[in-house]
Amino acid sequence: MNRYPPHLAKIMEFFKKLPGVGSKSAERYAFNMIDWQPDELARFAGALASAKELLQSCAECGCLTQQQTCPFCDLRTRSAETLCVVAHFKDVYAIEHTHEYKGLYHVLGSLLSPLEGKSPEKLNISKLKQRIVESGVREVVIAIDSTLEGDATTLYLKRELEDLDIQVSRLALGMPMGSSLDFVDGGTLARALSGRRGF
Ligand SMILES: [Zn+2]
Repeated sequence: MNRYPPHLAKIMEFFKKLPGVGSKSAERYAFNMIDWQPDELARFAGALASAKELLQSCAECGCLTQQQTCPFCDLRTRSAETLCVVAHFKDVYAIEHTHEYKGLYHVLGSLLSPLEGKSPEKLNISKLKQRIVESGVREVVIAIDSTLEGDATTLYLKRELEDLDIQVSRLALGMPMGSSLDFVDGGTLARALSGRRGF
């Protein structure tokens, strides 16, 4: 029997959509939040409601940005010598937290998955190649999780970039197999970055 008032149960259902949040945590979060001041709750609801409108993907690199000019594409603070290819914009923050990398990024947005109909055309490789040539990039670092789809995408990228006069490297395989970039600790990721090698 569900003894929660329906509205509380509804709030809990939203929390349960979050990764790693089960019934127990959802209950704790909901009890905590209904004690918040009304204006604080309204500000939180407002921040969530405008998230999609205010947070956009940079047209150049695909990173998350709130400004016209993306901070990761700003050549006054970033080096165009290296370009790091990641699957998702959340991976960018995992790499930034290591403080080991000052180059550019390119967010693919998805990985190759023939079963799910994600074919190479969906990856928009021509945009990536164009950026490499126009920005004078000398090294491309592929930082994609070592999963079945990740490895397929990495090999595809390597083949596509072969005709360009650049070095292509991959994060050092101290990275645990099947691990996700945002789950490995900062130290491991930093070592994977500095120990990257051509392949
Ligand atoms: Zn950008």
